[in-house]
Parts: sequence; C-alpha cells; structure tokens
Amino acid sequence: MKRLFAVIGLGRFGYSVAETLVKKGCEVLAIDRDEAKIQAISDIATFAVQCDATDERALKAVSTQNVDVAIVSIGENIEASILIVQTLKEMGIKSIIAKAVANIHGKILQNLGVTEVIYPERDAAIRLAHRLVSPTVLEYLELSPGYSIEEISVPDRFSGLTLEEAKIQEQYNLNIIGIKRQVTRMVKGQMKKEETFNFTPSPNDIIEKGDILVMIGKEQDLDRFSNAE
Ligand code: ATP
Repeated sequence: MKRLFAVIGLGRFGYSVAETLVKKGCEVLAIDRDEAKIQAISDIATFAVQCDATDERALKAVSTQNVDVAIVSIGENIEASILIVQTLKEMGIKSIIAKAVANIHGKILQNLGVTEVIYPERDAAIRLAHRLVSPTVLEYLELSPGYSIEEISVPDRFSGLTLEEAKIQEQYNLNIIGIKRQVTRMVKGQMKKEETFNFTPSPNDIIEKGDILVMIGKEQDLDRFSNAE
C-alpha cells in the first residue's frame, strides 16, 4: 500500500515537498488555508483540502485518512505551526517533520516531540557559505557535527591517477563514495553532454580532469582536500 503524506502549508517549501512526493509515486494530502494554493496543487495532489489547520476540529476532520507522515511547513506563523503539531500529536501521527525558521521555534517543536525539525533556510545558507569559501566544494551535507558528505571538483594534479595511486584515503582520511563525470556522447547524430555517476568506485578507477568526487569524512579533512592545489 502507498504511504500517505500530509503536507500542511503549501508555501514554496511545502509545495516542492508535496510535488516531489507525488512524482515519487506517494499519496499526498495537501492542506492550506489559502484557496489559491489549494487550486494550484489540486491537479497533482491525491487530496487537496482548504482549511485553517490551527482549527483542531477541522484538521482532525480532514486528516481522517491514515496519515503515515505529516510535514508541517509553516514558518512565518510560529504559533500556528506549534498548534498544528500539537493536534497532530494528539491524533497519534507517529512521524511528524516540521520546518522551523528560528532556533527557538525548532526547540519548541522538538519539545513537543516531533520526529525531525528542519531548517531549510539555515541549511541552504550554510551550504552556500561552504561553497563560497571553497569554490571547489559543489555540494555539502552535514551528517553529524564535524562530519559531512561533500562533492568536490578534483584538483588537476590527480588527473590520470587511479584512486589507489591518488592515496586520497591515506593522505586525507576521506572515503570516496562516488565519482561524477561529464561525458559527451553521440545521440541520434548529435553530440550530447551527460553526467555519469560511478557509485561503486574501485581502487583501479582512473580519475579524469573535471571529475567530481563525492567524499565522506571529517570537515577539517574535507577542507584540507578542497583547498589543496
Ligand atoms: P515558504 O518559505 O515555504 O514559502 P513561509 O514559511 O514563508 O513559506 P508561511 O507564511 O509560513 O510561509 O506559509 C506557508 C504556507 O502555509 C502558506 O501557503 C500559508 O497559506 C499556509 N498557512 C499558514 N498558516 C496556515 C494555517 N493556519 N492553516 C493552513 N495553512 C496555513
């Protein structure tokens, strides 16, 4: 049976979450108090309901389905987000993911017992700052404090070496979990650029100029590698 996700609040964040879940084949119950937002999503969502989710009775009435995961993506109105989470907890929804706009907001949500608090703006800002400081870092995802996964453009001096010869693991204490590469292929008589992703790299794989290495490790080691000439 397909899992049912309730997305409450269809701002830019909530809409994108709902849209992606639908694309992934999930059932989505989309809720917003703004009729225009409901209209905009009604073609793609499994159910789209206009209601003020702070109205406990209304929220309970529209969420009678068996919601597996609820995503509360209301940032501006902290009080509303808290009231909605409280109702969802009362309803016994086990998995609740809530967006926070500030630390205090996040702490309150955590105290209410949500499964996960996310800070989309803060996380995007941190990723941007990482990229700005180290332009070779293309993507950044913190796994736990001090540890992350990064996509780093490989310095030219490694070109032509196998992963074993490059000794990245030994010298930088990093694990390479994938290699992204732009390749040009002839498709129906036309040259097309596409990205390949080798997610099972082996010691004999050769690094090519322009490759992007996906690596996991301590941030200070990743910084050392991304700043290496
Ligand atoms: P984003 O950054 O994702 O665009 P935001 O945090 O800036 O969102 P909010 O003001 O938090 O924007 O609102 C997000 C959505 O939640 C809006 O579409 C709004 O209509 C909806 N919303 C706000 N309060 C409620 C509520 N009480 N019940 C239902 N929907 C609500």
